[in-house]
This record gives sequence, C-alpha cells and structure tokens, in this order.
Amino acid sequence: MYLLVMGLAGSGKTTLTGAFAKWMRENGHKVRVVNLDPGAEHLPYNPDFDIRSIVTVEKLMKEHGLGPNGAMLKASEVIVENAKEILKHEAFKPFDATVIIDTPGQLEIFMLRHEGYKFTSLLKRRAPTVGVFLVDGSMVYNIADLVTSWMLGLLVQVKLDIPTIPVFSKSDLIKDRSLVEKVVEDPLSLTEDIEKSLSGVTAELAIEMARLLAEYRQSLRPVLVSAITGEGFEELFSVVHEAFCSCGDLS
Ligand code: GDP
Ligand code: MG
Repeated sequence: MYLLVMGLAGSGKTTLTGAFAKWMRENGHKVRVVNLDPGAEHLPYNPDFDIRSIVTVEKLMKEHGLGPNGAMLKASEVIVENAKEILKHEAFKPFDATVIIDTPGQLEIFMLRHEGYKFTSLLKRRAPTVGVFLVDGSMVYNIADLVTSWMLGLLVQVKLDIPTIPVFSKSDLIKDRSLVEKVVEDPLSLTEDIEKSLSGVTAELAIEMARLLAEYRQSLRPVLVSAITGEGFEELFSVVHEAFCSCGDLS
C-alpha cells in the first residue's frame, strides 16, 4: 500500500515519516520510504527513492531566478510530467511493503493543487492509497484552532479522494491536552464551549464543523502522535490498517 504523509509546512511530516518507518521495521513490517519533497534539506531517514535525484527547488531557483514558491510550483510540474517514470522505481513497488511517502513541505503548493491530485490518482491506480493528515498539536491554542485544522484534513480527503486519517502530531508539545483529548473523543462535547468562545454565525459554523467531524470520526478516528516519544504509533498503525482494509475493499 501507499501511505501519503501530508500536513501544513512544519507539521512534522518528515520527522514522523522517519520515526514511523523505523518503528514499523522494528515491529517486523516491511517498509520503503520515499522523499517527494524537492525542497528538503536534511532528512532524518535514508530514502529508498529521493525526488531530489530528479528535481530540487534550490536548482530551479538558481536556474530560473525564481523564489522558493515559484520554484516549488515548477518542481510540482516536473514531478507530474515525470510521474510515470518515477513510479517505475523499485521503491514504489507497493505489494510487498508499505511505501511511506513524505510529501512536499508546503501542502498548498503540491498536494492541494491539481498536480497533487494527478500524482495521487496514479498511486491509487496501482495500489490502495491511504493518507495521514498531520495537525501540529503544538499550534492548537483554542477550539477554533482545533476544529479548523482538523477540518482541513477532511478537505484534503475530498480533494484527493483517499481515506485520510487525522493525526495530531507533536503530542509531547500539546498545550491543552485535555481540550485536544476531549475533542478527539467527542467533537460535539464542545458545543457549549464553542458558543461561549465564538460569536453568532461563526459559532454556528464551528458547531456545524464539529458535527461533521463527529460524523466522520466514526470511520477514521484521529490519533495523537509524537515522533519524539513514539506515543500513538501502535494506534496509528492500527488505524492505517483499518483504512487500508476499507480502501482495499473498494478497489
Ligand atoms: P514538515 O515540514 O511537516 O516535514 O515538518 P518537520 O518534520 O520538518 O518538523 C518541523 C519541526 O517540528 C522540526 O523542528 C521537528 O524537529 C519538529 N517536530 C516534528 N515532530 C515532532 C514531535 O513529535 N515532537 C516535537 N517536540 N517536535 C517535533
Ligand atoms: Mg518535510
């Protein structure tokens, strides 16, 4: 299967990719790791395939006089133009291993654009593909942060049409752990708090979002994970497996 690790810049994709791959190997599972970020500088893992062997943001910036975002846009095009060749690489063989794919730093410049959709479509054609969407737990200060960042994971799921597991990353840094745990267990438990902390129509909107989260929590439950302490890896593994079984049935 393919496991696409997604999330906003700095949410912990690369760190989790390395730590989770190591954990899976230590627990007897076969894993291959792909770096799909042409802007990556240092990787905490040894990739089986590295997109930087084909394109790097740094080189595009120099050659075309582009800024980092322009170069990443261009790199996204290069990735998709070469996708069929890239997918022929041994690392992408999906049937004897879980292929964990670390996606480009900035979600909005690849995964949320048509290029990300095209690449994901090619993966899906070959094997069941599951996403994890990282929400940076250390950036959750209040209810609005929680609801909106988790919601972004649902948007990604719709956009890419793959089961996408919400993951609260950096659980070792979460400030208000009881708030996060409460919402993760039961998003609607916060209806009263939302009414108190947000105003009028905005509160109504947030409650509607919480209702959606509660509904879809039934099929893919969120997981709190720390790449530093290893908290939540076992739980993440089992949710990935459940998602794999459900998308395996569909394909
Ligand atoms: P990416 O841009 O999503 O790939 O994010 P990175 O994996 O590069 O992580 C961004 C920063 O968060 C780095 O400084 C990491 O060391 C830090 N980080 C990532 N995961 C964790 C975690 O679980 N706990 C803590 N404390 N820091 C983390
Ligand atoms: Mg990264």
